[in-house]
Amino acid sequence: MSHLPLVDRFGRVATDLRLSVTDVCNLRCTYCLPEVVDGWLPRAEVLDREELVRLARIGTRTLGIEKIRLTGGEPLTRPDLVEIVADLHRALPEVELALTTNGLGLARKAGALREAGLSRVNVSLDTVDRHTYAQITRRGRLDEVLEGLSAAVAAGLTPVKVNCVPTRGINDDGLLDLVDHCVETGCELRFIEQMPIGAPRDWARENLVTAQEVRAQVATRYELREVPARGAAPAELFDLWRDGEQMGRIGTIASVTEPFCGSCDRTRISADGQLRSCLFSQDETDLRGLLRGGADDEQIARAWLGTMAAKPRAHGSDAGGFGEDFVQPERPMNAIGG
Ligand code: SAM
Repeated sequence: MSHLPLVDRFGRVATDLRLSVTDVCNLRCTYCLPEVVDGWLPRAEVLDREELVRLARIGTRTLGIEKIRLTGGEPLTRPDLVEIVADLHRALPEVELALTTNGLGLARKAGALREAGLSRVNVSLDTVDRHTYAQITRRGRLDEVLEGLSAAVAAGLTPVKVNCVPTRGINDDGLLDLVDHCVETGCELRFIEQMPIGAPRDWARENLVTAQEVRAQVATRYELREVPARGAAPAELFDLWRDGEQMGRIGTIASVTEPFCGSCDRTRISADGQLRSCLFSQDETDLRGLLRGGADDEQIARAWLGTMAAKPRAHGSDAGGFGEDFVQPERPMNAIGG
């Protein structure tokens, strides 16, 4: 089969694969998971290393995927994560491999992940305030995350990016402290608007802190100079300046107030091998069934192409938006792969 791009009805081409390796998470962030989780996927339903590599190979060699980001659940809860990275890198050395993690356990694994072939890491951290961190994650363990961040920088998994979801009345009074921490440690902070996905079904627009509000807050301490946009990257980037010196960089991702679906270049596979063309898709294609049912690479590639061709215009539907007619997907964020 010749090289075929994952192009959809609107001319968008997917080159960025979000590959989930587990649905298990060791935190219970209030905007993502319930306090008590109703069971995880049985291990037999989760893609094994060989299956992950096979899908990654089809995606890159046949369908034009250029970047793979491992996600979950919490990828570091998977004991063979370093081996997964090593296998992917060995099979596809030309592909950029990144990881999204909550940082727990990263201090121990950062060096090994780098050696195995990981290029970059995003660490989710909504606050550097101990009390607020425990309140959001329902667990605590902030020190471990901060150690993980430093270890990632030391291992050269750079630029280390920090993902923060600001929520009104919860962590919005600590955003400047988080910016300062990232400036001091040389990490790039990304503020992501909270989306209507995840366990709580009571998402309300009023609770999200908009990208615009965040920038206004950061501007009280730093001068923001916009960095020209690059490709399909959803973040608007700003260099931070103070007293004539560049201190660092932040990004704002306005997924709700300024959606970027028109330039979306993502394709997603859940830990149990279900292909989704959009985070908010209502439909999935069972690639694991094809893999385990003996399908050849071409059949799998054709199923992938068909699913992506039908990618909805925006936010899981052709109507788009998060208005009255928006339907939240049944699958929680941890089971899709954020
Ligand atoms: N466990 C890993 C982590 O914490 O980064 C990977 C999975 S987590 C679902 C990926 C990202 O999704 C995290 O940065 C998290 O903050 C973000 N996230 C979860 N629920 C969200 C929501 N409702 N809106 C926006 N971002 C969300």
